[in-house]
Amino acid sequence: MELKEITTPSYVIDEKKLRENLELLSDVQEKSGCRILLAQKAFSAFSEYPLIGRYLAGATASGLYEARLSSEEMGKENHIFSPAYRESEIEEIASICDHVIFNSFSQLAKYADTVKGIQEKRGITDGIGLRINPEFSTQDEPIYDPCAPGSRLGITIENFRKGVKEYSGEFSLVSGLHFHTLCEQGFEPLRKTFDAVEDKFGEYLALPQIKWINMGGGHHITKPDYDREGLIELIQRIKCTYSKPCNGCVNIDVYLEPGEAVALNAGYLVTEVMDIVENDIKILVLDASAACHMPDVLEMPYRPPLRDSGPAGEKKYTYRLSSCTCLAGDVIGDYSFDEEIHVGDRLVFEDMAIYSMVKNNTFNGIGLPSIYAMDESGECRPVKEFGYEDFKMRLS
Ligand SMILES: *Cc1c(COP(=O)(O)O)cnc(C)c1O
Repeated sequence: MELKEITTPSYVIDEKKLRENLELLSDVQEKSGCRILLAQKAFSAFSEYPLIGRYLAGATASGLYEARLSSEEMGKENHIFSPAYRESEIEEIASICDHVIFNSFSQLAKYADTVKGIQEKRGITDGIGLRINPEFSTQDEPIYDPCAPGSRLGITIENFRKGVKEYSGEFSLVSGLHFHTLCEQGFEPLRKTFDAVEDKFGEYLALPQIKWINMGGGHHITKPDYDREGLIELIQRIKCTYSKPCNGCVNIDVYLEPGEAVALNAGYLVTEVMDIVENDIKILVLDASAACHMPDVLEMPYRPPLRDSGPAGEKKYTYRLSSCTCLAGDVIGDYSFDEEIHVGDRLVFEDMAIYSMVKNNTFNGIGLPSIYAMDESGECRPVKEFGYEDFKMRLS
């Protein structure tokens, strides 16, 4: 099936783009010696996990469900971070996760023995980590800045020092440190952030017990202008500086866990124009919705790229793109086109693989888009369809 023949609305995963991203990431792994994990919260299209698993070291999760998904569908390294874990879930988590990262010394104290006991039976001896907060902001959006004042994410150096004293027994079980502070950023912010991490936490990184460091996600590694050479050099320097004897060899593992970068520009949302109404401006009513199918458009907010279009007024015909919901603000943006648009035409939103399928919803009783995969030759195959039951199932 060709792209123009699929049902709408549909997400289409572009496997060629995905593979190209994975090749870039795999090249960074090979040259630097780091290990890269898919952050599933950005992209959990598990039908592609076998492909992703051929290139990356594994996946990371924000909770039990994502951890189960990668355990079932990828079966490689499986990591988890959550601000807090449920007592009823921690044993299952420890039995399927290779790294369990805690956000506080109180969570560490509560669960470290349980996790260690279960992981040791699986032959894992370095599976417990702590998330640190270097308190070094590199962006202006507080909603995406874990270093913003008052953030719950990660342990500040002041609390870390206290924790190491107060919980010295539990701290001796910690084998790694994790930080995640970036969002859609280049290499320079990472370099500066790592300087801050070293400045504050360097003495802990140097401890013999610390066998790995995880530098989180938010790295736009697969963007054409990303300084991958810089990244590779930084990782090599970290490995040299903080290496220590470990099982007879000398090393420290460096992890990255990008979400966006894995599936950047590797998917589309295809929609059909259902009606055109006029109120000062011509408004397209689409069968896709910002609120339901691309919530980041309203949440971030941002204007998604649309194939063969320009900003309002640039091309001959300008329209406001909107949806079938009752939410007045469910507007995607104003776009212009060379040709007049008609009812029944199809529009293709770009870069719709990430933070789309994982965030969609059935608000207004709007159906979920189908999922297609487009292979290297451009052939589209249906992966999943949704219907009324998917709407009803979540309600009572
Ligand atoms: C969101 C998140 C990621 C992935 O971030 P991207 O911006 O999609 O690369 C990785 N690690 C943690 C802890 C996260 O919260």
